[in-house]
Amino acid sequence: MEKININDLTVEELENLIESFGEKKFHAKQIFKWVHRLKVTSFDEMTDISKSLREKLKENTYIMTLDVIECQKSKKDGTMKFLIKLNDNRAIESVLMRYNYGNTLCVSTQVGCKMGCKFCASTKEGYERNLKACEIEGQILTVERYTNEKISNVVYMGIGEPLDNYDNVVKSIRLINYPLGLNIGARHISLSTCGIVPNIYKLANENIQCTLSISLHATTDDKRKSIMPIANKYSIDELLKACRDYIKITGRRISFEYALILGENDTYEDAISLAKLLRGMIAHVNLIPVNEIKNGMYKKSKEKSIERFMNTLNSCGIVTTVRRELGSDIDAACGQLRKKYIESNK
Ligand code: SF4
Repeated sequence: MEKININDLTVEELENLIESFGEKKFHAKQIFKWVHRLKVTSFDEMTDISKSLREKLKENTYIMTLDVIECQKSKKDGTMKFLIKLNDNRAIESVLMRYNYGNTLCVSTQVGCKMGCKFCASTKEGYERNLKACEIEGQILTVERYTNEKISNVVYMGIGEPLDNYDNVVKSIRLINYPLGLNIGARHISLSTCGIVPNIYKLANENIQCTLSISLHATTDDKRKSIMPIANKYSIDELLKACRDYIKITGRRISFEYALILGENDTYEDAISLAKLLRGMIAHVNLIPVNEIKNGMYKKSKEKSIERFMNTLNSCGIVTTVRRELGSDIDAACGQLRKKYIESNK
């Protein structure tokens, strides 16, 4: 019989497993704490668990660990980019960013991505598979082990489209959030989506207080379609209606990401159109000078256009900031390190 990956079990699932061994279910919480909070890598370290239960755990389950294949560290700002090997030898990326409010880890949710956004390196090598909930949470455990530092914020903005791996992503948030585990509050977790409308509604009803970020990047359907294929499926109107409903249901503000691309979507008129689209919504706009990828077709907007875009939105009453570029001296744009890894293994 195949052994069960114990990292992927919620406390309730662990309780069922422990009871199936004929043991008391309260041990589930102790075991959960050993695995997710204390990050042990062997059952023998679980000193408050009886030897007989440890033996049953060894026989039927295993503790998953992920390996760091490569870590690049920015000399400018300490950003660390990790290439992490999964148990099936596939590779994903996570990025540790240092802010004055704490360490933030950007996690991947899929191996590759199907969404095909034109500015993104993550999609270039195609989609291989969804990550399990424990592989998403495991990126935090791995980076905490490697750096010996605590992660206090998590952003689902790495490789993959989180709402295309819905069940595992929601389960991973619950694992990360659980008080006996990493205990990272949902308000310290942000999930970014290119806009899979039905799953925005689903998420609204999960009663998770995480922050939702929408990758908008254009103000007309035609322009958005030319940058993001998902726009062929859902119009901006449908997407913004889902956002308004999300705010109504959850009471949470939405963050809109807008990658500024030279000559594509960065004019004064674009800024005015964006302000009109978001009028009346409790929203925040995050402007991101687009990451220039090797052989990519897009260049980042000029400083002046970025400033004008931000000032125009702010003067229209839309709270807007420009995302600070971190790790510019390393391959920090998502997908680039994995792309190199795949090419070098071909
Ligand atoms: S930007 Fe996100 S959704 Fe789009 S291709 Fe890249 S990883 Fe996928």
